[in-house]
Amino acid sequence: MSRTGRVIINTGLGKGKTTAALGTAFRALGHGHRVCVIQFIKGEGVYGERVFAETIPGCEWHVCGKGFVFNRERIEEDRTVARQGFALAKEKMTSDAYDLVILDELTYLPHFGFLDVEEIVAAIHDRPPRLTVIITGRNAPPELIAVADTVTEMNVVKHAFADGVKAQKGVEF
Ligand code: ATP
Ligand code: MG
Repeated sequence: MSRTGRVIINTGLGKGKTTAALGTAFRALGHGHRVCVIQFIKGEGVYGERVFAETIPGCEWHVCGKGFVFNRERIEEDRTVARQGFALAKEKMTSDAYDLVILDELTYLPHFGFLDVEEIVAAIHDRPPRLTVIITGRNAPPELIAVADTVTEMNVVKHAFADGVKAQKGVEF
């Protein structure tokens, strides 16, 4: 079978990487496609998108993180959780049960040294032909950019956070 699925990366320092991926999920679900979202790094906090996704048929959602990594003492635990998350991602990608798999914040795993980028490249290469994969996060490594079909870099023109405006419910989470 010829390949129809794409590899899409949303990277850069500006806002919109995760929400653009979820916009694509919305689009795919409208066509009756099956979607699986796996969130790395982010913890179980109340994100509106996850709460809503749990009510949508055809959309599966997994949280494989414990919050952003700031604490060196916790790094081995973060590494283990991240690697377990990637094992789940590989299982979902090879299952051929989905049209779209979103690996949210995955770029941080190779960036923090939790995962070899070649493992991600191999999983992309081995996926079923119809599967589109969207990867989000800052600092997308060049090896991932090389195998992607579509890469968008969100740049910050301005962000309210810089003016001291706190993350807002319904806008940032
Ligand atoms: P979003 O989830 O809103 O699409 P994102 O995925 O591009 O944003 P992340 O780097 O994952 O951004 O950011 C995590 C959190 O920080 C989100 O709540 C996001 O809205 C917010 N954010 C994104 N970019 C910036 C920025 N340049 N300055 C401050 N906060 C940001
Ligand atoms: Mg994000």
